[in-house]
Amino acid sequence: MNLDLSDYFSQTLALYKSPSQVARKVTETWASDNLYCPRCGLPLHQYKNNTEVFDFYCDHFDQKFMFIPSPAKDNFQLKGTKSFPHNHFPSTITGAEYHTTLASLEHGLFPSLILLHYELKRKEVQDGLFIHRLSVTLNSIRARTPLTENARRSNWTGTKILLNGIPEIGKIPIISESSIVPKEIVMEKWLSVERILQGNLDRRGWISAVMMVIDKLPELFSLNDIYAYQPYLEQQYPNNRHIRDKIRQQLQILREKGQLKFVGRGKYLKSNH
Ligand SMILES: [Zn+2]
Repeated sequence: MNLDLSDYFSQTLALYKSPSQVARKVTETWASDNLYCPRCGLPLHQYKNNTEVFDFYCDHFDQKFMFIPSPAKDNFQLKGTKSFPHNHFPSTITGAEYHTTLASLEHGLFPSLILLHYELKRKEVQDGLFIHRLSVTLNSIRARTPLTENARRSNWTGTKILLNGIPEIGKIPIISESSIVPKEIVMEKWLSVERILQGNLDRRGWISAVMMVIDKLPELFSLNDIYAYQPYLEQQYPNNRHIRDKIRQQLQILREKGQLKFVGRGKYLKSNH
């Protein structure tokens, strides 16, 4: 993997005028040349057709070995951001039309995301993340307020994807502060998301919500520490009258998946560290 974007910029600047087009082309070409599928490790394929809603895919098919570890195809969408001095990624990223996004989440068609953060002066990729599609739930998206009267009338509503509405487990670093994370670590993390965040959107929503609370707690925490976040979960699930039962159910799942250890007296230990 080569983090230098200079050649990509010089090739692209000759072809495109608008800065946003240049940025798009540079990050797209770089990703196509350098990124791999986090599930099987093969190079990502780029969708050539502009009408496609996704940017990359992998069918996990190795021609040499004729081996398909999984029948499902993984889709990826690329989001690039220019330098933010103190904040590597913005807290929200722009998604597609809101109702389309809701439908794609409900039907399990929402893609995994690739976030790239690059430094324009040094022309270098500095940070990269895969966001596993299973970690994106209704907790992670919000409708955008239409900006103009015209937009309101046409009924087109955009989506905001909230990075803090995604549990840490789903945000898998590929590059961190200009250093490349070993591929086997990325692939291991990818598989652990698939092991833990299973089931339909509602089930994944609950487990993600409780994991986001646990992300905020120290390594050793108590059931009461989680209950302290009950008002926050009630906000997300206003119709649920059994929030505490739901919390305990998620903790049980996380124990079964080896993410938590019960150490007695209502205390839990995070076991992924
Ligand atoms: Zn693959």
